[in-house]
Amino acid sequence: MEKEGNNGAAENGIKIPEIKFTQLFINGSFVDSVSGRCYETRDPRTGEVLASVAEGDKADVDLAVAAARQAFDHGKWPRMSGYERAEIMIRFADLIEQHRDELAALECLDAGKLFSMANIIDLETSIRTIRYYAGAADKIHGETLKMSRELQGYTLKEPIGVVGHIIPWNFPSIMFAIKVAPALAAGCTTVVKPAELTPLTALYYAYLAHKAGIPEGVINVVTGFGPTAGAAIASHMDIDMVSFTGSTAVGRFVMEAAAKSNLKPVSLELGGKSPLVIFDDADIDKAVDIARDATFFNNGEACIAASRIFVQEGIYDQFVQRLAERMKSWVVGDPFDPRVQQGPQVDKVQYEKILQYIEHGKREGATLLTGGKPCGKRGYYIEPAVFTDVKDDMLIAQDEIFGPVMSVMKFKTTEEAIERANNTRYGLAAGVITKDIDTVNRLTRSIRAGLIWVNCYFEMDADLSFGGFKISGFGKDSGLDALNKYMHVKSVVMPIYNTPWL
Ligand code: ADP
Repeated sequence: MEKEGNNGAAENGIKIPEIKFTQLFINGSFVDSVSGRCYETRDPRTGEVLASVAEGDKADVDLAVAAARQAFDHGKWPRMSGYERAEIMIRFADLIEQHRDELAALECLDAGKLFSMANIIDLETSIRTIRYYAGAADKIHGETLKMSRELQGYTLKEPIGVVGHIIPWNFPSIMFAIKVAPALAAGCTTVVKPAELTPLTALYYAYLAHKAGIPEGVINVVTGFGPTAGAAIASHMDIDMVSFTGSTAVGRFVMEAAAKSNLKPVSLELGGKSPLVIFDDADIDKAVDIARDATFFNNGEACIAASRIFVQEGIYDQFVQRLAERMKSWVVGDPFDPRVQQGPQVDKVQYEKILQYIEHGKREGATLLTGGKPCGKRGYYIEPAVFTDVKDDMLIAQDEIFGPVMSVMKFKTTEEAIERANNTRYGLAAGVITKDIDTVNRLTRSIRAGLIWVNCYFEMDADLSFGGFKISGFGKDSGLDALNKYMHVKSVVMPIYNTPWL
């Protein structure tokens, strides 16, 4: 850890925001939980208490769902024209833009994200996503069907109804936007449960949405824990769909609860163990930089992180040597400091889990090339770990660690690279680095993952469909596929001529 201390905000003139919203947001108002209970969130920079937040559970979810149900069944939001919804959504995005620095700072305090990244990536993506779906809200249309000589038909795309959104802690703003914005554009109403560790920005977004003119009951936010508030959403009889992002284990619970209740459709964006395959013809320095950022971006807390780096044998030794060099200048420290590249892990549980994986990797016989130790006097900081000599069946190569741990592996042939890249239960993302177009085409068609980057990594766009294969889940976030998932297709059939025999 090159940088000590937690004075990054003060040293760089960044104002630490006051925490304004800690209650549940139901039917257009901030309210206490029915039980009156609160829970504490902690600042990952120090481990100290950050905020006391309302602890919603089933009773609060019931109230939020009743509000969302009323807003959907009888309110104006689903009945407005797409153009009117778009106007309000654009105002919502504009308000986020106006509060951008404050929201970015909240992400930093809540999740340990780098302030600069939260601002230029998380907030920028959220704003763009809302504007993108606002732009789509008045372009929703079905098809005309020429059925037979006697019959014609058409399809209507209708909002699916009340949507439950259960979101994780690693990208609280982006997750809120990519889940809620397409649902809003479609005309749905929503109950959002942010992750218990990072509830602050979702509450702020609910406030701004209300201020922008999104009617009461359309967006409700219930903060609280997964097995209580989250489970109540998954099993609720009056929720029409659940869109979940989180771990595979919880995704299974959500799907089971949906099946056992009202058989609501689910969309699951789950974990990943993404491969990045680097061929001999790659520019080694560029490949090192792509690999480093692909693994350690966002403190390694990204489901799409490339945590399995396959390097072809011709450049393997050079790659490893230059990677070790490059890691020497990596700065771990206060996320408000612009020089810092990696902040603290989100909480103590996650921090300890990552350190255990690192110990396990050492015991399994992988070589710890750099890092892997806790650092800093307090807070949840870890030196980024680079393992070499990793075997495919080692735990560090199979499990999603969700932290700054890279596994580097050597391969010989393209066939071997494809087989080993696919040797995982996950299928969320992958990367390929090569100048050879034939190799690019082979890999992009052979790797079973929902998103494949070529000669880059982590590049995203609101228009890019995003979602996994295999146990990484199903259903897309982002892009027009996500808009479609929040709509039913209804078919209407009618005779062409009103003939009496039909
Ligand atoms: P992570 O491992 O990234 O923390 P989780 O899958 O545990 O991811 O959490 C993602 C989201 O799912 C969070 O909002 C969490 O509160 C919620 N959650 C956890 N357990 C359940 C559950 N049993 N039912 C519904 N939601 C849950």
